[in-house]
Amino acid sequence: MLKLTEVKSILREYNIHPSKRLGQNFLIDQNIKNKIVESIKISREDEVLEIGPGLGALTEDLCKKAKKVIAVEKDKRLYAFLLNNAYIDLINNDILKYEFKDISSKLIIVGNLPYSISSPILSKLIDNRTYVRSIYVTVQIEFGERLAALPGTKDYSSLSCYAQFYGEPKILFKIPRGAFFPVPKVDSCFLKIGMEKQIDSSIDQRLLFKIIRSSFEKRRKTILNSLASSGIFKSKEEVLICLAKAGISPDRRPETISLEEFTRLVI
Ligand code: SAM
Repeated sequence: MLKLTEVKSILREYNIHPSKRLGQNFLIDQNIKNKIVESIKISREDEVLEIGPGLGALTEDLCKKAKKVIAVEKDKRLYAFLLNNAYIDLINNDILKYEFKDISSKLIIVGNLPYSISSPILSKLIDNRTYVRSIYVTVQIEFGERLAALPGTKDYSSLSCYAQFYGEPKILFKIPRGAFFPVPKVDSCFLKIGMEKQIDSSIDQRLLFKIIRSSFEKRRKTILNSLASSGIFKSKEEVLICLAKAGISPDRRPETISLEEFTRLVI
């Protein structure tokens, strides 16, 4: 793995000024890199998709463990550097525009993500979940905590329900900001999202997430008042009937309602 002095010298040589917009904070901590690589379960049969390989901090180790590594890097200058230095299936593209196709087995997704687009990247991966087995990503700590949060905690939100409906998010460990160059303003965590959850196809997912989003928009209200003013139900009486059928007391706060309970409102 490149040391800080080497990272700085490559950036100078390729005339790269780390871009904030592209979330370019390069991993320079060898111990954290080892911890990341060791925690990813990959076998020689597996194909990995790395998002934003940058200067290749994780790439070489991923290549040693996997059958194949596809790496998608948006920055042309980093792409040029990697082309000269790494033997991988390298694609110069925006991950948000990348098309999942011609993939023989389900992918393991890995990446130290650019913070500002962690959320759209997650949505993209969930939309393409038929191609994905598991996701291992570094994200801003607050984002990771929201994804993994349980009912009754301050971080529990519609994002937690969304991530937990499609996957099993778990924070594996925290990463201090000093592990990256340039040092970002926030700390991170390394997160695993298992994507092998069976999803009940009879559930109306659009309606479910409409209900969940509306509920959390008014977290301070009771679930009854929150849903009665959401415009989703015809009347307060209809909300009451629906809540009774789902076994949810109308005076509960939305933030105490589990995903399983929300799901009962649409089946
Ligand atoms: N993996 C490297 C490391 O750990 O040192 C770099 C991580 S850096 C936090 C994020 C990387 O994602 C950068 O290389 C950046 O250029 C790349 N990136 C940013 N936006 C991207 C996008 N939309 N699609 C693909 N790569 C992107």
